Order: sequence, then structure tokens, then C-alpha cells
Amino acid sequence: MDNPSLERYSRQILVPGFDLEAQERLERSRIVLVGCGGLGVPLALYLVGMGIGEITVVDHDRIEASNLPRQVAYTETDIGLLKVEVLAERLRAMNSQVKVFSETGLFDTDSGGDLVAGKDLVVDATDNHEARLAIDVVSRKAGLPWVMASAVQMAGQIVAFSKEREEGCYHCLAPGIDRELVGACARLGVLSPVVGAVAMEQALKIIAILTDIIPARWGSLDVIDYRNNERRTLQLTRRSDCPNCSMS
Ligand SMILES: [Zn+2]
Repeated sequence: MDNPSLERYSRQILVPGFDLEAQERLERSRIVLVGCGGLGVPLALYLVGMGIGEITVVDHDRIEASNLPRQVAYTETDIGLLKVEVLAERLRAMNSQVKVFSETGLFDTDSGGDLVAGKDLVVDATDNHEARLAIDVVSRKAGLPWVMASAVQMAGQIVAFSKEREEGCYHCLAPGIDRELVGACARLGVLSPVVGAVAMEQALKIIAILTDIIPARWGSLDVIDYRNNERRTLQLTRRSDCPNCSMS
């Protein structure tokens, strides 16, 4: 690592357990981030700030006024523009050492294969059940781990799935998911710092997986209630009749 990089990343390299080797591992890491909204924006800003090697941001939406309280990389003059294009430009300006790619469109089982090829991890920041099912299928086929998160009102959930899926997968979890709460931010609302806090917990999980600084707790679903300052962890298990897990 050259001197400007050492200076740039000096505060995080100083952290016991996160040393030069972890930084270099992070700089060799390539991820796909699906969704450039309330979770995706802070995730991208912090991961690029920390010096991840490569990030591909995927989204089909345009910026609206109602995004601005949470999606803090966007400004009033960006309204109407494509999220991926604006975010990619901000990320490149933030850290020119990071390779930033953008893909406009939905992540599905058709488009997903090419997007995840050669990557190390897939991140779900979509608030969309269909996109998560597609990420689950595509990343399993590609042998990649992925990290899911969601936030609504004053609560959030985070879980990481390993490439082997020994702990089960999103399809195992899906029958128990309250569909009413997926994509609910537009109907039920969300407090901006809540989605930011969940994104930061998700970012920490991603850094831990990519650099191995904290043991990954695969299939361990963190359920956080910020209103009551409560946190529960549920260990998922593989469902014997899961179509995704039984796929060879
Ligand atoms: Zn499964």
C-alpha cells in the first residue's frame, strides 16, 4: 500500500483486528449492491469511503423529493435523474481508487447472472420481495454469499446467507415473511435515522464477511426495534422442502 492510501485509511487500520491485511482484503473485494434508496445510499457511501475494491450499483428508479430525507447523496437538483447515475458519479468523486459501475434496471434471474459473475458478495438494499428471491437464486448458483436488510417505521431486520446455504436461504424464510411489510416504506413510512442505522449494521456485516474481522453469523436474523430499544436474534434453519436449497 502506498503512503497516500496509508494516510487515507489510517484511522480504520489503527483499529485492533482491522489491520493492513484487512484493508487490503477490502480493496480486493468486489460487490454488487442492488437498490440505491434508503439502505443503498448510505451503504454505498460508507463502503466506498472505506476503500472497497469494486462496486456495481443496480436500480431502475429516478430520484423523487420524498427520497431526499434518507437518500443523502442526492440533492434537489437531482430530482428526476436516474439514481444509479447520480450515485455512481458521487461515489467516483468520493474515492477515485474504487471501481464504480452502474446498471440501470431490475435485478432478476435473467439479468442477475452476468452482474454477479466474478464478484465476492451481493447486497440486497431493495425493499422488494421479488428482487430478494432473484438475488437468492442467482447468488446461490454463482456460489456467493449475500446480505439482506429491511427497515420500516422504527424497526429493522438484517441477515446474511453463506455461499453454501447450510443455514437455509431466503426461500426457506419466505413462507414466514409478512408480505405486508415488504415494500412498506411508501405506505407505512420510515424514520430516516432508522434506515441509516440499519444500513450501517448491514455495512458492518458486509465488512466483517469480506475481511473476516468478525465471525459471520450466517442465517442469524437480527430483528431490531428502535422504538423500544430491543433487539432479538432468530437462527434460521433450512426447510426440507425448500425449492432453492434442494437445487443442485
Ligand atoms: Zn432454502
